[in-house]
Amino acid sequence: MSINLKQNDLSHVVAADRHHVWHHLSQHKHYETADPRVFVEGRGLKLWDANGREYLDGVSGGVWTVNVGYGRESIANAVRDQLVKLNYYAGAAGNVPGALFAAKLIEKMPGLTRVYYSNSGSEANEKAYKMVRQIAARHHGGRKWKVLYRERDYHGTTIGTLATSGQPQRADQYGPYPDGFVMVPHCLEYRKQWDVENYGERAANAIEEVILREGPDTVGAIVLEPVTAGGGVITPPEGYWQRVQEICRKYDILLHIDEVVCGLGRTGTWFGYQQYDIQPDIVTMAKGVASGYAAISCTVTTERVFDMFKDTPQDGMSYFRDISTFGGCTAGPVAALENMRIIEDEGLLENTAMMGERTFANLRALMEKHKVIGDVRGKGLFCGAELVADRTTKEPLEEKLVQAVVADCLAQGVIIGATNRSLHGGLNNTLCLSPALVATSEDIDQITGAIDTALAKLSV
Ligand code: PMP
Repeated sequence: MSINLKQNDLSHVVAADRHHVWHHLSQHKHYETADPRVFVEGRGLKLWDANGREYLDGVSGGVWTVNVGYGRESIANAVRDQLVKLNYYAGAAGNVPGALFAAKLIEKMPGLTRVYYSNSGSEANEKAYKMVRQIAARHHGGRKWKVLYRERDYHGTTIGTLATSGQPQRADQYGPYPDGFVMVPHCLEYRKQWDVENYGERAANAIEEVILREGPDTVGAIVLEPVTAGGGVITPPEGYWQRVQEICRKYDILLHIDEVVCGLGRTGTWFGYQQYDIQPDIVTMAKGVASGYAAISCTVTTERVFDMFKDTPQDGMSYFRDISTFGGCTAGPVAALENMRIIEDEGLLENTAMMGERTFANLRALMEKHKVIGDVRGKGLFCGAELVADRTTKEPLEEKLVQAVVADCLAQGVIIGATNRSLHGGLNNTLCLSPALVATSEDIDQITGAIDTALAKLSV
């Protein structure tokens, strides 16, 4: 059955949603007096809701996902053809799109060789943490089992990945958490923690301090977002990544880059880490891998990491003791293959870099006009504007005012985001833009124009 609704059926859909769907990240009290927004159709960056209202989506499906835009028939067709041929087989056996996508992906990731499939960003990161623990058990006498993570970064919603949440409001109320996950300071220069000239190097040295405090022989890996997403769209300062890499090599610590948001083109290169000329040991990705046309995530490793799961004379037969049931779905890799083809054939990396420049130029112009913009950050089509009540003190703008800007844009038919709601204050003050990589100059101008109009209404 395909779902083809007439306009008057849609009121039933909205009622069904209102009474029976438990929405993500939602305060449901709101729906006691208002209908939830239910989207019906999308094309490119455009969306239509159940009332027939049109929107320009400036956040690629809410959470930086639909990189190639809505309504891609070629992806739908590729998935359909694959599903009627073979939809699934799990475990040790392979499948055609899984093999072809892994090979294609690896072409874009020099130095990495192995792709482990699962379904969500959280799951991909959990796999990486399990790899680190198993490597510690097999090769380091149980030591080197700890994973460092960074303040303000986010890596997922499971208990294991929440143990690496650098955003306390996400993790509060779900503990206690497993041991062995240790936080390092964030590197956002706009909110300086050290008054030094070479901030990038200083922020990276803070990682070394934690390693020395914990004991280098207990630390197996560090997980970092290349550009922090939900924690405030944070581009690390000059020199940060080189120093991080040096530190990892010095103490034999695996560098795990979480590309769940940046992966597959968001920053204008295939991966965010490629903006910084570093060589990770583990890379995880999810959202943009198939642009939300199917669920797929990958934990990609070097051959050196992979080799650590091979037999040894000491412990005989060995392997990574993990499975993901839906890692055997073929819809994910076949959608991902077509997604990659689109990015390549349509020159979307180049477009992202170009449109990113335009977005930053527009935002910087808005900064001249609106004192409430304290900082503009990001890479490619992954842009943030931090809002402050006072530029000198950098006091974050009140959450309700940040939300008022988001709501005003929505009323103008433009969807933008703001970083996560915080119980601790200070995080939810960055407006986020992450339109699909097919965005045109007109789209960008419409999005930043809506922000301009919304900011003009703020009386700060
Ligand atoms: N890592 C990062 C950087 C993310 O932003 C997210 C999701 N917002 C995740 C991991 C978790 O991904 P998922 O929701 O697919 O589990």
